[in-house]
Amino acid sequence: MLPHCNYVHTDKTNGAKTPCLHQTYRGQLCVFHATNVREKAKDFERALGAILDEAYASADPIDLNFKGFVFPRVDFRYTEFRGIADFRKTIFTDDADFRGALFRRPVDFHVAEFRKNAVFDSAKFENIARFAGVQFKGRAIFSSTKFRGRTVFHGCRFSDFAAWQGAKFDKPLTFQVNTFDHDADFRRATFFGGVNFERTLFNRRSHFEGTRFHGEVLLTQTHIAVLKKFVSSHVNMDGAVLHTADFWDNERLSHYSFRDAFLISVNLAGKELENCDFTGAVFKSVLTQGWKPDARTRRNTKFIYTDYQTEEVKWLDGGMRRAYTPVLESRVPAEGNFGEGEHANFTFVDYLREPIRMNIALNVPPILRSVVTSYLQIFTDYLQVTDGVSVELRTRLEGSQLRAEFFAKRNSDLPLIREAFSDYQRNIGLSIDEIKRNIPFRENTTRLERDLFLMKMESEVNVLQTELGYIKGPLAQSPGDRELISRIVEASKSPGVLFEPLSIAPETPDAYVSYAWGDDASEEGLHREQIVDLLCDTITSSGRKVGRDKDRMRSGDSIERFALEITRAPCIIAVISEKYLHSEFCMVRELFRAYQRYQYKLDEFQKKVIGLVLDDAKMILQDHDAVLSLAEEWKERHDRLRRKQEKVDPLRKSRLEWEFLNLMDEMIPRISDMLLAINDILMKRGFDEIVSDGFKEVLKRLPPR
Ligand SMILES: [Zn+2]
Repeated sequence: MLPHCNYVHTDKTNGAKTPCLHQTYRGQLCVFHATNVREKAKDFERALGAILDEAYASADPIDLNFKGFVFPRVDFRYTEFRGIADFRKTIFTDDADFRGALFRRPVDFHVAEFRKNAVFDSAKFENIARFAGVQFKGRAIFSSTKFRGRTVFHGCRFSDFAAWQGAKFDKPLTFQVNTFDHDADFRRATFFGGVNFERTLFNRRSHFEGTRFHGEVLLTQTHIAVLKKFVSSHVNMDGAVLHTADFWDNERLSHYSFRDAFLISVNLAGKELENCDFTGAVFKSVLTQGWKPDARTRRNTKFIYTDYQTEEVKWLDGGMRRAYTPVLESRVPAEGNFGEGEHANFTFVDYLREPIRMNIALNVPPILRSVVTSYLQIFTDYLQVTDGVSVELRTRLEGSQLRAEFFAKRNSDLPLIREAFSDYQRNIGLSIDEIKRNIPFRENTTRLERDLFLMKMESEVNVLQTELGYIKGPLAQSPGDRELISRIVEASKSPGVLFEPLSIAPETPDAYVSYAWGDDASEEGLHREQIVDLLCDTITSSGRKVGRDKDRMRSGDSIERFALEITRAPCIIAVISEKYLHSEFCMVRELFRAYQRYQYKLDEFQKKVIGLVLDDAKMILQDHDAVLSLAEEWKERHDRLRRKQEKVDPLRKSRLEWEFLNLMDEMIPRISDMLLAINDILMKRGFDEIVSDGFKEVLKRLPPR
């Protein structure tokens, strides 16, 4: 009796050890586990034949244990595996030919290694097929293979070409965490049960021409080259879940059906869409800038949703899956279909269009917000009866201000709205009789329209006046806010003041650049100017709005206004040069005001201010002594200015000058704290580097877009 083979199979999942029961061949291992492939080939073939013959002869299906076998070239063509076929840890040292093989029970290739080609053309897996952790070093060919049961390709590496051309997957396919070093070919494959490509890397081309997806196609975290060359027409993605998908290299999507699909953070910007259908699809954070859906796509798409929900549900195979459903209330249009009936001129493209927006910040005391908001609403009616233009108006609170946003249908409506609104502003101070005379009704308004509008207008003006009268009483008796009381008193005389400062403001910038600019034409001065140009361009092209005072007049009120704007900005980028440190405008009005606004809280100030400290200022800031000298300079300057001011204005008639002097006075003892708090991102990185990588550091710190 020969001793047993030394091979022991260790199950990776539970650590169970199964020794090999075959007798030894030449050496310590049996013919199946021996590694001297060339020498053992003949004997191997004979021994394998015996195992297979035994299996065929049996009336009941016999499970086949090939665990850890080291196969020479093997021919399993048209072999029928009636029992479980266990190929775990198997090494196929040469081509493995499974063409036309039939697997009736589960088959497992866990961590198997195909050193040459693995050919499964026209094979049929009637039960579970597991390819987990498999190394395909040669070609992996599954063309026209039928996968009838649950199929898993998980953690596999395909070093050479891999193909599932025309393959059919009846059950949901798990295709996660695989790596393709070469092309992957899924042409004309059919996925009846959906496919989960999560975290799969397609490092080379992937072909999906004519591929049909019937269930969901999950592309979560997939390197989305998966959609590269997704150029076939007639792609069916009905019900698919496309998460963070980008149709690379594919500028035209023709005959794509996205019915009931979930498009989440999908990038369709700039794409041409030809005869596609998005009926029932969920559009959530989809980029559509510059897309060109053709007339058929618009016509095909009957309705969409704008929101979805997910839940974990038990799937047929027993596993848990995330199920996606649209939020029914988010249906657009709420009733009926795009392009039909009352929506005859309304398509999903119109709905998804970026709103044309204009907005105004109003400095309305909180106590009057509701009444002012309701008065503003009448403006939409006003625009109807005067110009016949529709506009939608929304208001929202913004700190101490009330923001009114106008949504227009066409860009060309904006100047008209702007003009009409300033007329409307002027009217508010008038009596109701004057207003009636002043309204430039459109010629074709009916008598009824005019009467109804005037009725509304009158009622709103009355409500406004009444409310002002009401609150005036209790307010006057309380010793509280004098400014508020005087505003209310003024407003009850002429309501127009309520809307001051009522200017049609540009959108609030996401960041302001504070820097010393202007008068010096020295090389340094020009350099500084260039840096700021470059910085502003970079921020603008990241889709953010940047505020910069280059074009603004520096006189009287406008100095104040801009400085205040800066201190209210969500973010300030201070480009600090030596000149900056000595500039009244930069130091006192901008930087110190911002510091003051954060109540001298260093951490909050640090979060808001990004410092770009240029070389000439660095020497000052890095040296505590130098910072103190700077403070000293400011002190002398302040004292000198104050003496002069006192001489020319002993009765303190110049409000702005004195305010400024007081501000400077407040700043001086805080200069060193303020400057040392500046989070200088150049100190760590070096100036040239930060510029050459496109201000990445700065962009990272800006509020998200
Ligand atoms: Zn063995």
